[in-house]
Amino acid sequence: MAKSENFDELILGGGVIGLSLAFHLANTGRRVCVVDRQQLGREASWAGAGILPPGSWYQDHPTLEALAKESCHLLPIWSKQLHEMTGIDNGWRQTGGIYYTKNFDRCPDDKTVLTLSRWQQLGILTQPIGTTELRELDPVVARGRRLTEQGQPCGYFVPEESQLRNPRHLKALIAACTRLGVVFEPETTLLGFVKHGPQITGVKTDRGQLQAGQFCLTAGCWTGQIAEQLGFSLPTKPVAGQMILLQHPQPVPACARIHHYGGKYIVPRSDGYTLIGSTLEDVGFEKQTTDQARAELQTLASDFGLSACDFKESWAGLRPASVDGLPYLGQIPGMNNGWVATGHFRAGLQFSAITAVTMAALMLDQEAPVDIAALGLERLGHPVS
Ligand SMILES: Cc1cc2nc3c(=O)[nH]c(=O)nc-3n(C[C@H](O)[C@H](O)[C@H](O)COP(=O)(O)OP(=O)(O)OC[C@H]3O[C@@H](n4cnc5c(N)ncnc54)[C@H](O)[C@@H]3O)c2cc1C
Repeated sequence: MAKSENFDELILGGGVIGLSLAFHLANTGRRVCVVDRQQLGREASWAGAGILPPGSWYQDHPTLEALAKESCHLLPIWSKQLHEMTGIDNGWRQTGGIYYTKNFDRCPDDKTVLTLSRWQQLGILTQPIGTTELRELDPVVARGRRLTEQGQPCGYFVPEESQLRNPRHLKALIAACTRLGVVFEPETTLLGFVKHGPQITGVKTDRGQLQAGQFCLTAGCWTGQIAEQLGFSLPTKPVAGQMILLQHPQPVPACARIHHYGGKYIVPRSDGYTLIGSTLEDVGFEKQTTDQARAELQTLASDFGLSACDFKESWAGLRPASVDGLPYLGQIPGMNNGWVATGHFRAGLQFSAITAVTMAALMLDQEAPVDIAALGLERLGHPVS
């Protein structure tokens, strides 16, 4: 452990949010350390599907729309930069997404119609499609057994939707951070904070003490537990999600687009693998996979023409949810140099780069690209210094 060092920023939690923040800060010349209680990037950030919608999907909120817009712009730039720096292709691709609506078959998802009309008003391209257009957009899915009637409307095509591959993106971030001199302290247990009035001066860990000028809590759904060690309450709740991975028998994409159906989705990768996800489960900090969820997701795959694919594996991850569905981005109550960035729920990959850039601006007292005042911790009733 780099005990004697005094870092500019110390980041607690090395998921996509903590690693993106470390990458951006180090890229601007800061001396950064990331502490994690296990290996980096093994929790929700690894488990996610990597869908990057062009708008805010899960919440209707102007700040989230602003974050979504900036993310669309930033993530392809970051992907290219990470590739150039590390040689790792994170799989960013603009495949477009198809959102099925209620008038298609038995899909119960009329939230889709509301979300897409909101996106249209924001200038995001959404093209109404029927089964005829679907045959052109994605012939494999169009052959699925749900699509028997010709010419019926089925939903919307959103060409700007993109995706990346989570494990590769995390690997690229870790490699780029290493190149930029970020110090990683994995498998390190946080024992407490050293405070001097409204100033945090260090953290105590089972491997020694670390000092820094600023501290940011990015521990996903466990951030509330760290906040308790600092003496403030931050309700962060885990929401489990299960996913299955299928492989097409030939080395070609099983389908071409991301498909959203009744809150679930199908995400084709470029090398014949396809993700099917995901469940939403209130089961505490449990990351179990179940036969029931696997069967449910495999039925969805079959309905979309993927019954010939082989099952490869399944997994679960814990999304960090806040009390009101909005991320917590801002200063820790009563602390001059303490910050929080968590609660991204189903959009942590989507909002990762813009969260990093915005949080870094706040921490360095610079102008942020997005006004995130509405996401601050004041809304929990805490006085913030
Ligand atoms: C099944 C599933 C599908 C998803 N699909 C998408 C998607 O398509 N698009 C999208 O944008 N988002 C998606 N998400 C959501 C996204 O994955 C999360 O919002 C995001 O990964 C949260 O990142 P994080 O860095 O905050 O948390 P995490 O990735 O959970 O990282 C938190 C880190 O903190 C560490 N930590 C915990 N406690 C401590 C401690 N006491 N001390 C030090 N370190 C600690 C953990 O070990 C971990 O490394 C999905 C999530 C799931 C589960």
